[in-house]
Amino acid sequence: MNERLFVVDTCVGNEKEVLGFDGFNNLNLPFLDAMKQAGIDRNKVTDVICTHLHFDHVGWNTYKEEGKWKPTFPNAKYHFAREEYDYWEKDGFENHALGPLENVSFRESIDPVVDAGLVNFIEMDDDLGNGISVKPSPGHSKGHINVHFDAGTETFIIAGDMCHHPCQIAQTNWAAVIDYDTKESSLTRRKILGELSGSDTLVTCTHFCSPSFGYIIGNESDGFVFKTVDKTN
Ligand SMILES: [Zn+2]
Repeated sequence: MNERLFVVDTCVGNEKEVLGFDGFNNLNLPFLDAMKQAGIDRNKVTDVICTHLHFDHVGWNTYKEEGKWKPTFPNAKYHFAREEYDYWEKDGFENHALGPLENVSFRESIDPVVDAGLVNFIEMDDDLGNGISVKPSPGHSKGHINVHFDAGTETFIIAGDMCHHPCQIAQTNWAAVIDYDTKESSLTRRKILGELSGSDTLVTCTHFCSPSFGYIIGNESDGFVFKTVDKTN
């Protein structure tokens, strides 16, 4: 049996201290109940992948119980790109605009799963088995990765914050102000969208609204196009 249950990018989480983003600070949302209602037992999740370690992609790695941060998915391996983790620990807390916030986020959402021995540090280009792999997509963050799923009948990619909005597919040089390297994030978009254009690989990015999955068509000079499909049925 190859049954694995993946969670990719765990959002902001509850009761997190999110400095400077009032709308995300100290949330209390019924996320775990919603997961249960969707038929997903968090104890059965086998793998968690964070495309990068910004606070809004790691929050539900942990939850608070009796004043302590505990792994939300206690039987999962949490896959983090070593490059991304090392950047924050060695340089990012001090020099990145999100440094102070990320420092807190690490204490709340990263360190507890590291301390629990659940983290598998991976390369930016790595094979996780069963048709699942990660590929480098740097720019938004230092060690940003895209997650590729090859289900045999269908392939799809979760591309994290390679784009925050589909408008960046049409305008690949539009970068987010918070990108680690705006030139590199634009280059990454051009390269990867060029590779995907005309293929039958489905793509989404973590912040896209529904319908969030689509195919890439077009080219760089005329502009890439995100052709969405409804995957809710
Ligand atoms: Zn994000």
